[in-house]
Amino acid sequence: MKKTKIIATIGPATKEEETLKELILAGIDVVRLNLTHADHNFCSKVIEKIRKLNLQFKKNVAVMLDMQGPDIRVEEIAGGSAKLSKGDKIRIYKNEVLGDRTKFSLNDDEIVDEVLVGAKIFVDDGKVELEVVAKGVGYLICEVKNEGFIATKKSVNICKTTRIRPFLSEKDKSDMKFATKIGADFLAVSFVNTIDDILEVNDLLISLGNDDIEVIAKIETEKAVENIDGIINECDGIMVARGDLGIEMAIEKLPGIQKKLIGKCIEKGRISIVATEMLASMEKNPRPTRAEVSDVANAVMDGVDAVMLSGETAIGIYPVNAVAMMATIIKAAEQNINCIELLDKAMRSEINDTVGLIAYSVVDCANRLNAKAIMVTTMTGTTARKVSRLRPASPIFALSPNEATIKKLALSFGVVPVLVKELHNFDKITQKTIEVAKEKLKLVAGDKILITGGYPFVENSPTNFMKIEEI
Ligand code: PEP
Repeated sequence: MKKTKIIATIGPATKEEETLKELILAGIDVVRLNLTHADHNFCSKVIEKIRKLNLQFKKNVAVMLDMQGPDIRVEEIAGGSAKLSKGDKIRIYKNEVLGDRTKFSLNDDEIVDEVLVGAKIFVDDGKVELEVVAKGVGYLICEVKNEGFIATKKSVNICKTTRIRPFLSEKDKSDMKFATKIGADFLAVSFVNTIDDILEVNDLLISLGNDDIEVIAKIETEKAVENIDGIINECDGIMVARGDLGIEMAIEKLPGIQKKLIGKCIEKGRISIVATEMLASMEKNPRPTRAEVSDVANAVMDGVDAVMLSGETAIGIYPVNAVAMMATIIKAAEQNINCIELLDKAMRSEINDTVGLIAYSVVDCANRLNAKAIMVTTMTGTTARKVSRLRPASPIFALSPNEATIKKLALSFGVVPVLVKELHNFDKITQKTIEVAKEKLKLVAGDKILITGGYPFVENSPTNFMKIEEI
């Protein structure tokens, strides 16, 4: 049973029910719909199919909607593209102009006012780098740092801007309303820079009456890395979005940042996701490269909650193979996870609450007794998350009567969510948890399991017990 979760991005290659079924059976935990490419109609159809398959196969695959965020692109260039040489000067105008090798404009005119002198501007996934050397009224003067082409509609990443407008665009707001209406379980927020960006998202969710959705901040800018502590405090988890982060920052810094961010999430009890190009070569090939296998395995051994597939499953030729391969790599890498080291890392942040202390005692006991499972009864998912944060060696079965809780646990390391009816007395809790453990694992006489939760098993009852059961 693998503990690290898999997120698969759904696109044209995987939108049909039969393929979604194969992905589920190959081991995905969450489907991601990328709102940069997928419209609401596409998303609704996929979500409907996933919900049907969940019922059919008794699974709890959750849904993540990934917001577009700012989408800055080059406006029209005469003849489609223009060649720039190193050292050239080029102007970016606020008002629309027909572009050439001396000037162009962007689809977002306000950005010209927000960019600071010294900012770096990357065109076409970083293929061309420009540096802003001066600003005039309504234009920027940039120096070309390397030879390359700018072309109509190519993507633009800009580092160093001072925001003079709200974080959420009208499209993002409409997407958040859609996420609320459709009951998405996770909302991935693109291009977060500061704690205020997350607060703006949280405020809108409150005004929409959406308490259930889990907010994942995508870390894809240098500013977000600088502001990471505040951002982590205000969201439910983060995604190391290596695609854009690798453009906005020196690419060689990515592995160190990834390790640091996973560690911070473990300390703070937040979900961590590593994304982009994990098995990129499998978009076209049935087998990954050695480097890709190592990349996935290293994230797993660092204790990440989830790894993500993007193009591999959205547009690749081998989407099901990619998921199966990822599951295989995860299972092998998990054999090498050093649980004691990860428990030490988690304990670096002070634990002074009852739930945290009980969770620690449960995990410590489970590790020492070589327990076969940790059974958690949980209304909101908090106890299960606190146990998961400590990265126990045994699987965690989280029993809850609350469907929203079941879905939000889809990304937590080691947690297998199990929907149960309410359990009204302590004997029933013990009986049911043993029954589930026996159903999910091959237990033999003498095996031990840990049981924890809050009694009575009702809303707002704090975690207050732990029990060791011998089969
Ligand atoms: C990324 O940049 O790595 C990422 C996951 O975001 P997107 O797919 O939206 O570019």
